[in-house]
Amino acid sequence: MKAEGAEPSMTEYRVAFDAGRPDGRACIHLGELVSPGDPAVRGCSECLESGKRWLHLRQCLSCGHVGCCDSSRGKHAQDHAESSGHPVARSIERGEDWAWCYADELFLTPNGGPGMAT
Ligand SMILES: [Zn+2]
Ligand SMILES: [Zn+2]
Ligand SMILES: [Zn+2]
Repeated sequence: MKAEGAEPSMTEYRVAFDAGRPDGRACIHLGELVSPGDPAVRGCSECLESGKRWLHLRQCLSCGHVGCCDSSRGKHAQDHAESSGHPVARSIERGEDWAWCYADELFLTPNGGPGMAT
């Protein structure tokens, strides 16, 4: 399928303030992230195949893979990060715009955020 219309704008992330962690931690992957756009299927493909249920969905910011979160039984987003070496996944839950770097164990938040004028 060809993408029609405007390209999704690139979301840039920065490391979120995270109380309880030492300052100065950095995610070395920020420059490698892509904006995969909204997934075609809003579901964890691994869970769908095996008939499992998931709680929340995470989308890989390297290839667009959708997997379920660490609170889901499958933990397929983490599986994907470890097996593929893709470090960062974002939440695609409504109202959530953060991402998580599995390699650096850091929360990331978008620079600017939705609705900002360009
Ligand atoms: Zn990182
Ligand atoms: Zn899953
Ligand atoms: Zn991936």
